[in-house]
Amino acid sequence: MAYDFDLYVIGAGSGGVRAARFAAGYGAKVAVAESRYLGGTCVNVGCVPKKLLVYGAHFAEDFEQSAGFGWSLGEAKFDWATLIANKDREINRLNGIYRNLLVNSGVTLHEGHAKLVDPHAVEVNGQRYSAERILVAVGGWPLIPQIPGHEHAISSNEAFFLKELPKRVLVVGGGYIAVEFAGIFHGLGAETTLLYRGDLFLRGFDGAVRKHLQEELTKRGMHLQFNADIERIEKQADGSLNVTLKDGRQLQADCVFYATGRRPMLDNLGLENTRVKLDKKGFVEVDELYQTTEPSILAIGDVIGRVQLTPVALAEGMAVARRLFKPEQYRQVDYRMIPTAVFSLPNIGTVGLTEEQAREEGYEVQVFESRFRPMKLTLTECQERTLMKLVVDAKTDKVLGCHMVGPEAGEIVQGLAIALKAGATKRDFDETIGVHPTAAEEFVTMRTPVAG
Ligand code: FAD
Ligand code: NDP
Repeated sequence: MAYDFDLYVIGAGSGGVRAARFAAGYGAKVAVAESRYLGGTCVNVGCVPKKLLVYGAHFAEDFEQSAGFGWSLGEAKFDWATLIANKDREINRLNGIYRNLLVNSGVTLHEGHAKLVDPHAVEVNGQRYSAERILVAVGGWPLIPQIPGHEHAISSNEAFFLKELPKRVLVVGGGYIAVEFAGIFHGLGAETTLLYRGDLFLRGFDGAVRKHLQEELTKRGMHLQFNADIERIEKQADGSLNVTLKDGRQLQADCVFYATGRRPMLDNLGLENTRVKLDKKGFVEVDELYQTTEPSILAIGDVIGRVQLTPVALAEGMAVARRLFKPEQYRQVDYRMIPTAVFSLPNIGTVGLTEEQAREEGYEVQVFESRFRPMKLTLTECQERTLMKLVVDAKTDKVLGCHMVGPEAGEIVQGLAIALKAGATKRDFDETIGVHPTAAEEFVTMRTPVAG
């Protein structure tokens, strides 16, 4: 049977655009449908605008610290509307780049919501298109618990477009988004409280990293409330929000921001017209080839709920395009040693196993740690400290994990990830000459284990 397309991609986000472009480059006839914004979550309401806001928030401490280097500035003033307008302009520019990338690589772009009507067909804007294969790359959506008054809360989707910076912000959650946005609001001058339901935020990160960030955020004056959760939110006559916690306490805020995870974006996707199954958590179930339980349909990225990071969605998109249309170049995605950063202030950078994971997996662990005041701060009043940590397998000397909290941790950990992926030992680290004077050189000068 002749199909309209070899591959029909639903969703022009990180994974979908990568798969579509590469498949078209390999000679396939490809279409992509996008209902909202080219570039998906990352470009529009994720990584990119978030990082721009983090840069914006960082200036506050730069201004403060500049006094130690002899600078005297007038009173620093911040204008949220300018930051958001400039951010929007940059995102518009990126949307245009994504459009050109798709069109120039020969992909047909359909702007509208795509619905699966059978295992080989989608409907967009009232038109039906057939395809030999369909790739579901629809991403995710913020999940706000349905507590009384949840309609008064916002998620990251809205935070990027607030008309003004709220004076008092309550951030709920203890994951990436909560910690990053708490840093943004706090840095830009809002009185910020982070509420997390457990004992300590950033579950799954190394214990020393979690503790260190807690101390640093507290030093900066952010209010951290752990073992706390919201029971209800009530809007007051003056527009402010009265928040009642499960333990009965009451807090006042102008904005309640929920960052409590994301669900797959399956709304009106038409999965019921196919044999695609969902897993226990509600994400699309796929095998190691991103094949769903419907032979003609594949899925990648946040919608499969594996690792919700842009570079992972890109790698999955590339793997699908290669396997289908350039099999001689196909390589399976390697999910080990995925480096990641949390763009909190200060940043976290991490790759490999945490100390807790290494012990759980039965390794005999050696831990190396360094805590120090960054050189840039020695002329300032700022008491911030950096943490660096190596987790080493005592038997083989292999470095199992690198963790950092401090300026540019994300930048530093990218290089370390290559070393770990190549199987570097602690001896390789020790024999590597440092770059002086940098913070990164600490990673090659830690000599004495702190725990064995
Ligand atoms: P998406 O990028 O979400 O793309 C899916 C696309 O499909 C969307 O454009 C959507 O509109 C479209 N779509 C959905 N349904 C349909 C339909 N039926 N028809 C047509 N189109 C449809 N990751 C990092 O690596 N680093 C970061 O710093 C980072 N920061 C983040 C900050 C925030 C606030 C958020 C929310 C996420 C962040 N992420 C970050 C995660 C990253 O954005 C995602 O992992 C990544 O975007 C997933 O790509 P994807 O292709 O699976 O989906
Ligand atoms: P996460 O899954 O990272 O964190 C969700 C947080 O919300 C956890 O602390 C969780 O607590 C808490 N939580 C979940 N449900 C509830 C509830 N009902 N009530 C109260 N608290 C709750 O999700 P995020 O929304 O922060 O981010 C989604 C994903 O996007 C991330 O996992 C990451 O993959 C990606 N991302 C990556 C970034 C980066 O690379 N820098 C930045 C931003 C996002 P508990 O731990 O107790 O379960």
